[in-house]
This record gives sequence, structure tokens and C-alpha cells, in this order.
Amino acid sequence: MSYRNGLARPVQKLERSLSVNSNCSSNNGVRPLVPSPPPSSPAPTRAKPVSPSRPASATGRRTPQRNSRYESGVSSRVRVAVRLRPRNAEEIVADADFADCIELQPELKRLKIRKNNWDCETYEFDEVLTDFSSQKRVYEVVAKPVVESVLEGYNGTIMAYGQTGTGKTFTLGRLGEEDIADRGIMVRAMEDILADISPEQDSITVSYLQLYMETVLDLLVPGKDNIPIVEDPKTGDVSLPGATAVEIWDQTSFLDLLQTGEANRFAANTKLNTESSRSHAILMVNVKKHVKGKGGDLILTNENGLGVHMSKGFCPPMVRKSKLVVVDLAGSERLDKSGSEGHALEEAKSINLSLTSLGKCINALAEGSSHIPIRDSKLTRLLRDSFGGTARTSLVITIGPSPRHRGETMSTIMFGQRAMKVENMVKLKEEFDYKSLCRRLDMELEKRVSEIERQGKLLLDVEEKLQERLEETKRAERNLESALEKMAAERARYHKEHIEVLESLENERAERQKMENQLQSTMQDMQHHREVFDPCNQLKSEILELKLQLDKEVQLRQQAEKELSALKSGLTKIESTSPEGQEALILSRRLEDEMKQRKNLEEEIQQLRNQLTQVTLQADEAKRIVSGRISFGSESHKSFASVNHNIDTSANLNTSGRPQEHVGLQKVLSLLDSADLDVRVHAVKVVANLAAEVNQEKIVEAGGLHSMLMLLSSTEDETIRRVAAGAIANLAMNETNQELIMSEGGITLLSKTADDAEDPQTLRMVAGAIANLCGNDKLQLKLRDEGGIKALLSMVKSNHPDVLAQVARGIANFAKCESRGAVQGSKPARSLLIDEGALPWIVANASNEASPIRRHIELALCHLAQKDVNGKDLVAGGALWELIRISRECSREDIRMLAHRMLISSSVFQAELRRLHIVL
Ligand code: ADP
Ligand code: MG
Repeated sequence: MSYRNGLARPVQKLERSLSVNSNCSSNNGVRPLVPSPPPSSPAPTRAKPVSPSRPASATGRRTPQRNSRYESGVSSRVRVAVRLRPRNAEEIVADADFADCIELQPELKRLKIRKNNWDCETYEFDEVLTDFSSQKRVYEVVAKPVVESVLEGYNGTIMAYGQTGTGKTFTLGRLGEEDIADRGIMVRAMEDILADISPEQDSITVSYLQLYMETVLDLLVPGKDNIPIVEDPKTGDVSLPGATAVEIWDQTSFLDLLQTGEANRFAANTKLNTESSRSHAILMVNVKKHVKGKGGDLILTNENGLGVHMSKGFCPPMVRKSKLVVVDLAGSERLDKSGSEGHALEEAKSINLSLTSLGKCINALAEGSSHIPIRDSKLTRLLRDSFGGTARTSLVITIGPSPRHRGETMSTIMFGQRAMKVENMVKLKEEFDYKSLCRRLDMELEKRVSEIERQGKLLLDVEEKLQERLEETKRAERNLESALEKMAAERARYHKEHIEVLESLENERAERQKMENQLQSTMQDMQHHREVFDPCNQLKSEILELKLQLDKEVQLRQQAEKELSALKSGLTKIESTSPEGQEALILSRRLEDEMKQRKNLEEEIQQLRNQLTQVTLQADEAKRIVSGRISFGSESHKSFASVNHNIDTSANLNTSGRPQEHVGLQKVLSLLDSADLDVRVHAVKVVANLAAEVNQEKIVEAGGLHSMLMLLSSTEDETIRRVAAGAIANLAMNETNQELIMSEGGITLLSKTADDAEDPQTLRMVAGAIANLCGNDKLQLKLRDEGGIKALLSMVKSNHPDVLAQVARGIANFAKCESRGAVQGSKPARSLLIDEGALPWIVANASNEASPIRRHIELALCHLAQKDVNGKDLVAGGALWELIRISRECSREDIRMLAHRMLISSSVFQAELRRLHIVL
């Protein structure tokens, strides 16, 4: 756009013309203010300087709207203020006789310059600052609008032009160290800028340069000479990237910077052998301000040329990058007047080149020339934005009051007048803050990349897990398949077995049916037999007969007695006569015969009665055997079989040792192998009951003991096992049987049963069996070696008092045998019970609440104590205390006495008792 060309842009329109007095002729292209209006504008007689269409007022700031008007630039004329320096001491003296050639009319913003005593010229400026105007006022009218404009995002230029000594540096660069009221524009501008910006977001950088003889040098870092001016070919923006840019955060650092700059300027000028008035000082303040709450939507163009709308989060923030340039120009006087005699003409030309070029450019701009020679000098290149560019520009021209410098003053005034014609197109320097967006996007990108990496890793993990699951599933499928195959095979097998079982059941049922039929017929036979041949009936009739005979005999006897008494009385009568005496004797003999006959008859009756009882029982027994409900034994067992209290009372067998019994036993034993569990249970109960009777020998002979032992290992049925164990326990009471049990591996079988069984009654039977075996002197070692004691002790875990009682009995039996051995003088060896670890249990249960347990243990302890070799172990195991207790408290006197005797007879116990000071 044209305004980017800065000074090269011709002035399109002047909002108002500059003025000259009607009496005054136009001079140097400056149009008179009144009465003739400027050609470009029908200005009023006292035309006011046109407001440069500032977006903000001088006092109240307002945020410029970002609209097309601002984006394309707004016309804004260079504002020019004139400042008159008060007379200095020299002038007061030298010009004492002269009147000032300058007359100011500040309220009219006019300046009159006396040409001669009768003629003067009047010029109008944007501001007229008198010799008594304060620095504050100067700042407010000249600089403040520009500073505010800079803070709003516009470039701004404040420049002082004038003859050396007229107060340019006073106006711009005064630090006000002695009196703060003297602070110049630079210091005050920075105060306002610092007050406005936000240190967190915004930034201010300052460069301070000197331009002398077309060389730019850095006033902040000495030695940085000849800094190149760089122009952006696209935007036309001018910058000095080689210049030091100091970031400023407070006023003090800025004052330090200015002082440093001044000091360096002085040093540089001394080195160059010149004066500061010959060089231009340029202060560049770059302000970067973020626009609060403003972030435009970002539309990026993709490679297809299509706009891609970025989401709100990626909208770049808006930033305003504006620049304030404060230029303290070199003295505008001609060189021959400045007193710089030391310079050659060419050098002098070079010194003034920039200023001359500036004048030419302003003239060209003021006149609307098509060519603006900005490239002629470095100053004009640097200030291309300030005149005819996009900056808001304020120029203060400084003049002295002395008529001696009237020519220079006039030249300055004309420069100001021309500058007032220069129109700028101010443009908001607002842009997207791509750098911060870029940083944000970089961060976002990094975040996204790491997120993607994380997600990728997760994905990999998930994939791995999926793979594992897949393999697991495959494995499971394979397992399932093989399991299904197995199941199918199993099923087929079960099906086959099922059919087989059904068949065998069918067979069994048929068998049973057959048996039942047989039984039925047998019973019928029996019934018939009974009816026909029942000896009982026969005998009954015999008895009846006998009874009748007896009754008859009784009657006969009574009759005979009667006869006897009649005979006796007859005898007495006859005795009185001799032949009757003989007859009586004969009668007496007959009576005696009768009496004998009667006695014989009575004995016969008794015999018949006995036979009757026997035959009745026999008949009942036969009946029961046949009905399969063979009755055995009696309820009067005192042995282990009595524990089979649940044995069917119909299972009682008369065990009177008749020939039929043996036949029944064989039958019963064969029933132990029956397929019918009930029959097996019943049969084992019968054998058990028989074993409790006197028929043990016969049972053993018939193989009953062997069968019982085998049952222990072969059966799964708890009842059978319990009853079989009971039978063995009963059989184990007999010494011969004990040896047989041992030889048939009974201990192993009983131990196994002890391990497997849970029913305390089974355990009781097993314990009872072992307890009986414990009572055999000859079997002690074998019993121990085959694990009998261990098995016995293992059963205490059942904790059932019945079981514990049997265990205690076994221990007592064992101890008793051992003590017997000791008494009989066998080799003294420690009790096998102690070897097998029975002592702790013995001691622990010595005072068991259950008297059967306690009694057995008390006895066991006494027996153990009988062997001296056990003494130490008994003491160590705490048995001594129990023996003492037994000797004192046992309710059975014999045991009490036995314990006492053991205590006093054992040297080990005696020693211990002495040690413990226990008196028995
Ligand atoms: P320039 O920079 O234009 O050469 P200076 O700023 O150095 O001129 O001023 C020259 C002298 O005049 C200095 O001593 C300065 O203090 C004094 N001076 C300039 N302007 C004023 C003013 N408005 N009031 C008082 N003294 C001034
Ligand atoms: Mg100066």
C-alpha cells in the first residue's frame, strides 16, 4: 500500500493550510494563513490545526477499534509546536538595546516575527509555547498525544528542530535530576509508558543512537559504530538490528541509560573532535503490548489454498508493536555560523547532509512532489515513517529571542510551517503474536507428541495384552476341545458302565427274586414241616397226654390214699383179728409200689418239660434262619459288641453251641460278601455279636477273624468298618486271637482304619482292639514296631471321651506289661511308650475329668514309675507331680497306695522330692 512508502508517498490532501499574515508574502512555499485561504482547503481566517484524527484523546484514552478504517490508515497531519527560549544571560546583556523580534500569541497559536520596525509576519502553529512555558506543558501538548498513541499501537515520532542553543536538548533530553519539574520529553514519555504497560506480558526495549556524518553509532555500547539501517522490503519498516536494545522495566534504569548515552555521546564527539550540536541523537523506544482479551480467529491457508479454521485454543494472541522515536536533531544553523571552523567544506556538507535531506523531503512532501528523496541520507531513511509514513509525528521547533539570529529563526519557522503540511496515514501496528502462538503451538505439539507416544505405548501394551489374551483363548479353546473329547469318551464310558450296572442290577434283582422265591418256598416248607412235624406240637400232645395221665395218677393216688386210710382203719380193726392182719400187710406193700410208680412218672414229666422248652427254642431259631432275619447273641453283652447297640435285635443268634449254629455261621460269613449292603451290614453285626460271646473260637476257626480284618481294608462303609473293628476288639481279648491278629497284619489294618475313620465309635473300636493287643507281653515290641502305639496315640485327636478312654486303657495295658517285665527282671530299658512320645499326653490327661480316662492313666503312670529307668523321663515330663497327686488324691485306694509305693521306692523320685522339699 502506498502509505508504506513512507516519505515517498506524496501528500494527498492537507486538512488545512498553514497560514501567513495577509501582509506577508508567501515565503518558501508556505502559504499565508490569512486572508487568502490555502488552495487545498477553504480554511477559516484563523484556521485551527486540524485534529490528526487520533483514535484517543489527549487526556482520556480509548481503545481504537480494529476496523478497516484503521487498518488502511487514518490521515494525520504532522503537528508542529514552536517553543521560544527565554533570553539567556548573554542575550540579556547583548540584546539589551534591542527589542525581541519575536512576538507570541499563544492563545491564538500565532507567532509574529518582526521583519523590520514597521513590518512583521505572522505564522500559525499547532501550539505556541512561550519562553515561560513549563516543561510539563510542553510535554502535554507536544509529546503526550504521541506517547498515548504509541501505547495504543501506533508508531510515533517526537522531534526537535532548531538552531543550536535554542533548547532542543532542554526540551527533549533534560533528566531533571536537580529539579524534577525540568524533566524533558524523553523522561516524561517513559514514565507514561512504564505506567501503562503490564510487566508480565508487555515489554519495552530502548536503543539510543547518534547519527553523525552519515554514520550511526550506538550510544549504549561504545565502539558499535556504523550500524546499518535495514528496511523490510515488504513492509518498508525500518530497523537497526545491530543496535543495542536494552529492556527497560523502571524509570531508574531508563535514566541510567540516558546518562550512559549522554556520556558516550560526549566521549564520541570528543573523539570525533566535534560538538554534540553537530550530530543527531535518536532515542528509539519499542513497545510490545499484548491486547487484553483479544485473540482473533486464525485461519491458516493450506497447500490447496483453502482456509483452515484453527480452533479457539490455537488462535494467536494479538500484540501491538509500536515504536516511539525521539529525535534531537543537530543544530539547524548554517555551518559557517556554527563556528566549526575545523571542518573542511566537504566534511561540513556531510555533517549537514541529513538535515538538508530532511528539509528537502519535507519540502517535497509539503508540495506534493512525486519524488521524495528519502534515500539521500540516513536520517531521512530512519525517519521515513515519521514524515509521510504511518507514524503520528509531533515536531517542536525551538527558536531564540535574539534579533541577531533572526535569519536562523526565520529558517526554523519556515521549516515548521512546511512540516505542518505533511500528512501521515497513521496505522495501528497490531498483529498476531505468531511468536507466542508458535511457542504455544510448540508446547502443544510437544504435549500432543508425548500424548501420542503415550497412547502409542498404551496401544502397544493393549496389543500385547490382546495377543496374550488371544493366545490364552486359543489355549483355552484347545483345552476345551480336549476336555470335550475327554468328556465325550467319559460319557461313552459312563454310558457303557451304566448299561453294565443296569444289567448287573437286573441280574441281581433276578437273583434276589429267585432267592426270595426260594425263601418263600422254604418258609412254606418250614410252615408245612412245622405243622406236620413240629416236635413241639407232638410233645405238647404228649405232655397233654402225660398231664392227663398225671391227673389220673393224682386221682388214683388220692383214691389210694383214701383207700389206704380206709385200709389203715380196717387194718386196725383186722389187727384186732388175726386173719385181717395178714391182709393189711399185703395192702401196705401194694401202696409202696404205687408210690414208686408215681415218682417215676413225675421225673418223666420233668424230662418232657425240658425237652419241650428246648424244642420250642429250636423251632424259633430255625424259623429265623430261614426268614433271613437270623437272630444272634443276646442283649447282655458286656464286651465291645455291645456298642453295636444299633444292631437289629432280630440279628441275635442263639449261641448255645448246637450243631445247627456252625452251619449258620458259615452262612453268615458267606453273606459278608453279599452284593447287598444291608445284608453285609447285617452279617457283620451278627459276627460281631457272636465275637462278644463265647463262640470266638468257632468264629476264628470259620475264618471270621480274617474276614473282619479284611473288611477293615476292603470296605468303604463306616458301619461295617465300625462293627468289624468292634468284632476284632472283642476277638482281641483272647491271647491266641491276639497273636493271630498280629500275624495277619492287624496292626497295619487298624492303623489305617484309625487314620481314615472319623466316626468316634469306629475309633473307639479300633482303639479298643489295639488296647487289648497292648495287654499281651509277648507282642509288645512287634506292636510298637508295626506302629501300634503311634496309631493309638494318633486317635487322641478325635478328643471323644470314649476314644480317649480306650487309648488310656491301651497305654495302661502296655505299661502294665512293661512293668511286669520289669518285675520279672527282664533287661531294664526305657518304656517304649516314652520312646514313642506318649508321655506328654499321659501327663496332660492324668487328671482328665472323665474317670475312665483318668483311672487308666493313673494306672499307666504307676506302672511306668515301677521301672527305675523311666524315672528321669517321668520327672522331666512332669509326671512326678501327677504321681504325687495320685498318691494323695486318687479315690481308689489300691492305686493311691501303688503310687505312693512307687514314689518312695524310686531313688530318682526320692532325690527329686528331696530337691523340691516335698514330703509325702
Ligand atoms: P540546543 O540543544 O538546541 O543546542 P540546549 O537545549 O542545549 O540547546 O539549550 C541551550 C541553553 O539554553 C542551555 O543552557 C539551556 O539550559 C538553555 N535553555 C534552553 N531552553 C530553555 C528554556 N526554555 N528555559 C530556560 N533555559 C533554556
Ligand atoms: Mg542540543
